[in-house]
Amino acid sequence: MSHAKQGRVFSGMQPSGEAHLGNYLGALRQWVELQETHECFFCVVDEHAITGEYSPSDLPGRVFDLAVSFLAVGLDPARSTIFVQSDVSEHVVLAWLFNAVAPVGELERMTQYKDKSTNLESIPVGLLNYPVLQTADILLYRADLVPVGEDQLQHLELSREIARRWNARFGEYFPEPQPVISRAGRILGLDGNAKMSKSLGNTVGILAEPEEIWERVRTAVTDPQRVRRTDPGRPEVCNVYSLHKFFTPPEELPDIAAQCRGATRGCVDCKRILSDHIAEHFAPIRERARDLKADPNQVREILDAGAEKARAEARETLEEVRERMGMRWRDLPILST
Ligand code: SF4
Repeated sequence: MSHAKQGRVFSGMQPSGEAHLGNYLGALRQWVELQETHECFFCVVDEHAITGEYSPSDLPGRVFDLAVSFLAVGLDPARSTIFVQSDVSEHVVLAWLFNAVAPVGELERMTQYKDKSTNLESIPVGLLNYPVLQTADILLYRADLVPVGEDQLQHLELSREIARRWNARFGEYFPEPQPVISRAGRILGLDGNAKMSKSLGNTVGILAEPEEIWERVRTAVTDPQRVRRTDPGRPEVCNVYSLHKFFTPPEELPDIAAQCRGATRGCVDCKRILSDHIAEHFAPIRERARDLKADPNQVREILDAGAEKARAEARETLEEVRERMGMRWRDLPILST
């Protein structure tokens, strides 16, 4: 198998429905660029979604809506392999085989595991094992590069550790995947406190209509010191201004900052400008999403074709892994009695 482009990329996103600004700025934009230069596998990781609270009846719709977002932002099935994790059962098989070398102590030290398990009365094994499945996602395609946010670096380091341990035990085969860190940094939610996340309700959907974008953006927290309209503001600490930097044309930014500092423009007007730019930025993406939703069979066909391509690669990897791990009893010569 040859990796003709500059390397092989794998990345996945949990199906929380339509993507939001944090998904777009922190990951999807970069994925669209990477598919020009790298051989890319992009996956809706629904098997990861079941490790937390979720509703089985909502999950299919959330998978579909995220897939629509993938395609609407410009992930191109002609350039990338786009699929749903549970359509390729080799992911869970490889995760189980990696359990032979994955260190429990290190899994227990993962910050995300500690955060998510703290208040649980009974901790599901899947929560602990989550990074092992992530490792399988990546290494099933022998990906060299993984676009990640900084909060996922620890998991990726563990993936390298699992690759090293497996290679040491069964022979050099897997690459040690390296991170491609998002240049957007951490995208804060509209509350300005935590990472943008649907479960925290602090997001703006990328497919939202302009009125809905405004309804969300107008609630955004601004510089806490700018209590009255006449108080001078500090764009450098304001989360609305940090979003302006992504969506407002650069030539308009000095004015926005100056009018904030001089208290010559109020926060509501400033948010309105941001909301309009966000709506304008996503107009063609909304349009594409509308077309895709009107033709769900087209989306199904793309995901089916992606899963087929992914399965072909995955089977090749599993074949080699099984061989090296001694799961080839059928190859023994038949001993007659
Ligand atoms: S005017 Fe704009 S940048 Fe300044 S504090 Fe208000 S919302 Fe933030």
